Amino acid sequence: MKLDYPDSPLYRLRHSCAHLMAQAVLELHPEAKLGIGPPIEDGFYYDFDLPAPLREEDLTAIEAKMREIAARGLDITRFETTREEAKALIERVGQVPYKLELLDVIPEGDPISFYQQGDFADLCRGPHIENTRELQHFKLLNLAGAYWRGDERNKMLTRLYGTAWHSAEELEAYLHRLEEAKKRDHRRLGKELGLFVIMPEVGSGLPMWLPKGATARRLLEEYIVAEEIKAGYQHVHTPDIARLNLYRTSGHYPYYKESMYPPLVFEDGEEFMLRPMNCPHHFMIYKSDARSYRDLPLRLAELGTVYRYEKSGELSGLIRVRCFTINDAHVFLRPDQIKAEIQHNVELVQTVYKRLNLEEFWLRLSLRDPANKEKYFDDDEMWNSAEASLQAALDEMGLPYERAEGEAAFYGPKIDVQVADCLGREQTVSTVQLDFLMAQRFDLEYTGEDGKPHRPVIIHRAPIGSFERMMGFLIEHYAGVFPLWLAPVQAALLPIADRHAPYAQGIYEQLREAGFRPEIDARQERLNYKIRQHETQKVPYMLIMGDKDVEGGTVSVRSREQGDLGAMSVEAFIDHLKQESTQ
Ligand code: ZN
Repeated sequence: MKLDYPDSPLYRLRHSCAHLMAQAVLELHPEAKLGIGPPIEDGFYYDFDLPAPLREEDLTAIEAKMREIAARGLDITRFETTREEAKALIERVGQVPYKLELLDVIPEGDPISFYQQGDFADLCRGPHIENTRELQHFKLLNLAGAYWRGDERNKMLTRLYGTAWHSAEELEAYLHRLEEAKKRDHRRLGKELGLFVIMPEVGSGLPMWLPKGATARRLLEEYIVAEEIKAGYQHVHTPDIARLNLYRTSGHYPYYKESMYPPLVFEDGEEFMLRPMNCPHHFMIYKSDARSYRDLPLRLAELGTVYRYEKSGELSGLIRVRCFTINDAHVFLRPDQIKAEIQHNVELVQTVYKRLNLEEFWLRLSLRDPANKEKYFDDDEMWNSAEASLQAALDEMGLPYERAEGEAAFYGPKIDVQVADCLGREQTVSTVQLDFLMAQRFDLEYTGEDGKPHRPVIIHRAPIGSFERMMGFLIEHYAGVFPLWLAPVQAALLPIADRHAPYAQGIYEQLREAGFRPEIDARQERLNYKIRQHETQKVPYMLIMGDKDVEGGTVSVRSREQGDLGAMSVEAFIDHLKQESTQ
């Protein structure tokens, strides 16, 4: 377990803050056993084994103790020991078993160092800041459970998170960002807006879409399928399970076994797998018929559901789940078509992102790490030509991209589409993956112009990626305010009194017939109450209907974005919706 993080002044500060927190916890709870305590992207954490669980209130006391120790102005000094001395020191201060295990992980020949401040010394390779007085702008954030060394078979420790910055302003800005992110958290909004639920009776990591969430998701599905058909894709539909042998052929089994569910054994002893990938099914469709060079590129697409085993500690809302549907496709092509097809795919990504209002995204060319032969399919010639064609495709389009060595999949290089989430953290949403390997494994062929058999190249690509992840991401990106075309309810119809209800019903029918998604709220509640409620539900339009509207055949329109738009005819409102939907 090697802990790698950049050595920057901010990381030093955070790492030292983790030590300060460990020292404070030990002063308050001398029986605490320390696990690991690294700096992380926005702060730091430390894992503790404590006799009694900590409560949120305890954080205040720990933070106060940290400030007290920081103010002592302790010098932070490094010293090296032999392995035996280190062991003796760790045992003397009672930091067993975890620190002893960490000592064992240090490779033979590497220096063994401790960092000391006052009477607290921690096994650590550093580096650190020089004095505890430099630690001023920090805050403890939350508690979580974490298995020792990330292994579910080990004891669950208490992980205490904090953040630390160089200045009060930076700390303030970060805490503000965190507050904003909490409001946008898709798990919270998913509940408030009635989009999805996850229930222990069904299982963790298995979200269920409620009518509103399912509507938004279906609209996204319909949109992408239509867009793909325009782009020359043919949609197929294949089963969620297949014989185990299919995954032996693909190499998923046993290579990918940890992420797959155990086989389903049928009466005759035949083993089937819940599929972790859609690829093998599509390869078999390709293989089901003779293919000629004239048929290529052949683009097979599917909204394909896959099943992956994720550790329970790693599940999170819609982002990390155990069953999800991919906007998947496999393009079979001739080598001379690679560049054009990659460009065709990047263009599709651009179209989709524009429609989703994802203005800020960037491309990452994920290449192999040439030094790491084990991680990648061994064929230098294949890698060199595949990497070169991806690069040429992007260069020719004049698109900026970053190169990421060591990020390729085991069977080929890829283009990742990166976005930043609402906390500014980088995420991969879409990929365009080149694959020179699977056509060999599945013995896929096409008849060339020369009348001889040739291997097609395969592109795996998914502009939406997984619908679950994309929806989770979009809920946060939009802060729950879906663009009109994706909004589950586009207009809430609010008759002022009972006598206006039949009129509202007529408007409702008209809107439905025009292809929109209205909802009537005829509850006997005060109008203001109803308006507030539909505002919190982030409904794009409210149509209020009273005597004047009934007489004049109008609706009084309130827009989520523009406020009161006044009275207009239903036809005018429908035109307004049509125009906005295509934007
Ligand atoms: Zn695939």
